[in-house]
Amino acid sequence: MSVSGTASIQDGKAIRSRGWLALAALLAATIFLIDTFSPLDMAIAVLYVVVVLFAASFVEKAGLLVIAGACIGLTVLSFAVMHSENYSLSATMRGLVSIAAITVTTLLSLRNREATGVLRDQAALLDLSHDAIFVRDTADTITYWNQGAAQLYGWSRNEAVGQSATDLLRTRFPAPRAEIIAEVLRTGRWDGELVHTTRDGRLVTTMSRWSLQRDARGRPVATMETNSDITERKQAENALHQAQADLAHVTRVTTMGELTASIAHEVNQPLAAVVTNGEAGLRWMRRPVPDMGEAELSVERMIANARRASEVVARLRALARRGEPVHVRLDLGEVIEDTVALIERELSSHGVRLDMALDPTLPPVLGDRVQLQQVIINLALNAIQAMDGEAREHRRLRISAAPPDEECPGVECPGVAITVEDDGPGVDEEKLPVLFNPFFSTKKDGMGLGLSISRSIVEAHGGRIFATRGGDGPAARGMRFTLILPFAKETVS
Ligand code: ADP
Repeated sequence: MSVSGTASIQDGKAIRSRGWLALAALLAATIFLIDTFSPLDMAIAVLYVVVVLFAASFVEKAGLLVIAGACIGLTVLSFAVMHSENYSLSATMRGLVSIAAITVTTLLSLRNREATGVLRDQAALLDLSHDAIFVRDTADTITYWNQGAAQLYGWSRNEAVGQSATDLLRTRFPAPRAEIIAEVLRTGRWDGELVHTTRDGRLVTTMSRWSLQRDARGRPVATMETNSDITERKQAENALHQAQADLAHVTRVTTMGELTASIAHEVNQPLAAVVTNGEAGLRWMRRPVPDMGEAELSVERMIANARRASEVVARLRALARRGEPVHVRLDLGEVIEDTVALIERELSSHGVRLDMALDPTLPPVLGDRVQLQQVIINLALNAIQAMDGEAREHRRLRISAAPPDEECPGVECPGVAITVEDDGPGVDEEKLPVLFNPFFSTKKDGMGLGLSISRSIVEAHGGRIFATRGGDGPAARGMRFTLILPFAKETVS
C-alpha cells in the first residue's frame, strides 16, 4: 500500500473517532442534565457506564481514564448541585453506587482491552510468517487470513474473510475432500499437497498442514491451514522426472541395439517357418489329388508362426515406446520368461547357460512391465558380458524369483525378490558402494547408466535393489543383484 494511501486511512480514522467522541460527550451531557434536573429519585448516574463502554471501543487507555474521571466528576457535580443544602443519605448512597459502577466498568474495560491487545499481537505474529496461513470455520468460511496468504493468493484479508476457502482458491485435493475432512476430525490434523488457484489465475502447489481447533466441549470449531508454496520445487522435480524418463528411454533403445542379433533371430525364425509352411501347403494342394487335410495343417502352422512373429514385434515396440509408465498388476514369472526370450540369442552367442528358478506361487506385483523388463535385461546383459573371460563351463547365469523370506525378513520389506547371479569375476569390494552411481563403468564403451536407471526404476516401484558379491568364502565368485518389489494389494487390479 502506498504512503499516501496509509495516510488517508489514518485521516479517516481520526475523523471517525472525533465524531464518536462528540457523541459520547452528548450522551454524558444528557445523563448529567437528567441526573441534575429531573425529579426522579434514581441512580441515573449509573448510566455513565454506557458512556465508558461506548468510549472503550474507540479511545486509548489514557483517553478512557479521562472520560471515566469526567463521568465521576459530573456525578459529584450533579450531587453537589442537588444536595449541597439538603443532605440525603439515600442520594449519597446512589451517588456512591454510581461512582463504584463507573470505576468497575472502567477497570474491566481496561483489562479487556489488554487481553484483546495480546490476542491482536499474537495474530500479528502470524503475519510475520512467510507461509500462507488462514483459518476457516466448520462451514469452510474463512475467518482469518494472514499477510502471507494475501501475498501468495492475491486477495486482501478483507476480501478473503467471509468467503468459502475451497471455492475462493478452487482447491484441488489429492484425495476426496470428504476423506481428508474425516481424517482431520479423527486425528486432529492432516498434511499433504494441494493445488490452489490464485487471484490472477496462476496454479500454485502448496505443502498444506491442517490443524483442527476444538472448543472446551471437544466440538470442532475451526481449522487452521498453513500452506507453503512448493510450486518451483515441484516443477524442478517434474523436470528431473522427465529427464530421468528420457534417459531411461535412451538406455533402453541402446540396450535394444545390443540385442539386435537376438531380435533379428526372434523375428526371422517364425517368418522362415511361415515361408516353409506356405510352400509345403502349396505342394499339398498341387498334388494330382490335393490333400486338403495336410494343406490345412500347413496353413494353421503358418498362422501360428505369423502370430509369434507379430507378438515379438509387439514386445519390441513396447520396449522402444516412449511414454509415461503404466503400473498394472503383473505376474513377475511371466515378465521374466518374456524377457529371457529376448536375450536367448545373447546367451547362446556368449556360451552362457541359463538356470531359472521361478517360484510358481509368486504373488503379483504392481508395476510397469516394460520398465521391469528393462531392469532384468540390464542385469542379465551385464552378467553375460562379465563372464566373457571365464572358461565356457563356468559361464552360468541364474535368474530366480521367490517370496523374500531369506533376503528380506520381517514386515518392513514385504515383497518379491528377484535375483540375477553370475559366475564372473565380480566387482571389487570397494567398488560396491559406487556401482549404482551414474556414469560408473569399467567397460571400454560403457555408458555406466544401466544400473543407475535400474535403481531409479525399482525405487519408483517402491522397491529396492542391491548388489552383493556371489557365494561365500575366499572361493566366492561372481555377482548377485537382488531386487525387492512390494506385493500388489488385493483390492488393486
Ligand atoms: P555399463 O554396463 O554401461 O558399464 P552399468 O551401470 O550397467 O553400466 O554397469 C556399471 C558397471 O558395473 C559396469 O561397467 C561393471 O563394471 C559393473 N558391473 C555391473 N554388473 C556386473 C556384473 N554382473 N559383474 C561384474 N561387474 C558388473
